[in-house]
Amino acid sequence: MRPLFALGFFLVFGALGNAAAPKRPNIVFLFSDDHASHAISAYGSKINQTPNIDRIAKEGMLFRNTFCTNSICGPSRAVILTGKHSHLNGFYDNRSTFDGTQQTFAKLLQANGYNTAMIGKWHLVTDPTGFDKWTILPGQGIYYNPNFKSDKGPLKVEGYCTDIITDMTLNWLDKGRDKEKPFLLMCQHKAPHREWAPGPNQLGLYRDKDIPEPDSLFDDWKGLAPGAKYQEMTIAKHMLPSDLKFKSPQSMNPAQKALWDKYYGPENEAYEKNKPTGKDQVRWNYQRYIKDYLRCVAGVDDGVGRVLKYLDENGLAENTIVVYSSDQGFYLGDKGWFDKRWMYDVSMRMPFVVRWPGKIKAGTENHDLVQNLDFGPTFLDAAGIQVPADMQGKSIIPLLEGHTLADWRKSVYYHYYEYPAEHMVPRHYGVRTATHKLIHYYQRDEWELFDLVKDPGETNSVFQNEEYAKVRDELARELIRLRKHYKVEGAPEPEKKAAPRPGAGKKKAG
Ligand code: CA
Repeated sequence: MRPLFALGFFLVFGALGNAAAPKRPNIVFLFSDDHASHAISAYGSKINQTPNIDRIAKEGMLFRNTFCTNSICGPSRAVILTGKHSHLNGFYDNRSTFDGTQQTFAKLLQANGYNTAMIGKWHLVTDPTGFDKWTILPGQGIYYNPNFKSDKGPLKVEGYCTDIITDMTLNWLDKGRDKEKPFLLMCQHKAPHREWAPGPNQLGLYRDKDIPEPDSLFDDWKGLAPGAKYQEMTIAKHMLPSDLKFKSPQSMNPAQKALWDKYYGPENEAYEKNKPTGKDQVRWNYQRYIKDYLRCVAGVDDGVGRVLKYLDENGLAENTIVVYSSDQGFYLGDKGWFDKRWMYDVSMRMPFVVRWPGKIKAGTENHDLVQNLDFGPTFLDAAGIQVPADMQGKSIIPLLEGHTLADWRKSVYYHYYEYPAEHMVPRHYGVRTATHKLIHYYQRDEWELFDLVKDPGETNSVFQNEEYAKVRDELARELIRLRKHYKVEGAPEPEKKAAPRPGAGKKKAG
């Protein structure tokens, strides 16, 4: 009897032991630059299709209300890595330098046995830390035949940036990683960032049709605080010759240039022969801009599809968390603008879709207020690592599992610092709830209050409207509470020195 009992004991507890220690998931973080959720079909885009990004949503969860804390490239990345607001991670604006000695989620995963890689746009000035393998674009990077920096030294690669970053990603998955370890792979595209230079495979898209215009293309911003009138981010006046493709990328080789000219040459000739004026000029600029932006997005979506296919074909899909997101939103002609920076939803909202078979119910949606602050804590939690107390974000694993948490945050804090600078968007901070938003342009002491239910486009501030006095006071109190909670009060601000503004003082393009 005794040996049988012992065997039974082993079988029961052996099985329980396996259940208690499941294989830790891999994490594939697919990220892009300036990709607004209203240019993703899973989010209801009226202007394009993104079948591969949509697939992540269909097989996982789509988040409707994910917001960055500071809508600009470098700062959003620093927040993701550290799980801390800009004033604590020290990367306030694109003139900051990231302190790579500080704690990041990537370092914690690496220290806990994950194989870690970072490929693509980094944009934090100092070299990556916390990665076994890294290959990054220097600074902003270029679209054609880009230079890279890597843990092995500099390299230059012929080809188109989005395709190259995808190739490097697949190469690391196939040949670079330690197959005995779970992995973190951050694949971060430069596209669709300005100057929206499409790749050779996408140059032919949208040539024979126009893209619908947003309703607010000719907005006069009269319902906004006066500060909105001083911005320099209009499609009408602030696009450069390279943005509008009157200049081609200088780094192209002759074959790339010939293909480019085949597509833009005839259109540019037609433009020169019959130059539009007034609103027609704005419409022409919008079409040129949005088509190039969407061509760049199509390149990113293709890259996402290639990574998903690799995971499928190599038995990795089941135990891998796949995320698609972008560092912030972007104006796609809404309010007559391009670019980001504002606390308005179009700029502040991030696309965020997550697939994790067995954990996330396919085809689900979440409407909770999530932030890029939460990404790091979530990845640590998924790996079974204690989230450090000084990280300001929260793990969203319960949300991914479909739970409703009564104590989940009811408001988010936002703070933008880069002024004076390109596009001249004034510094501001504010609070957003599920239904309202209060913004303080503190250098000018101007305020805005939006009723997001009645006015989701944020066209009319109701700050002066006495019907909203109660909401205004509640939000003002909540703003004070959040600034205390996140330790904003008393934190230093970046210097107010002017940065060079591309295009300022130059002849208008187009
Ligand atoms: Ca960006």
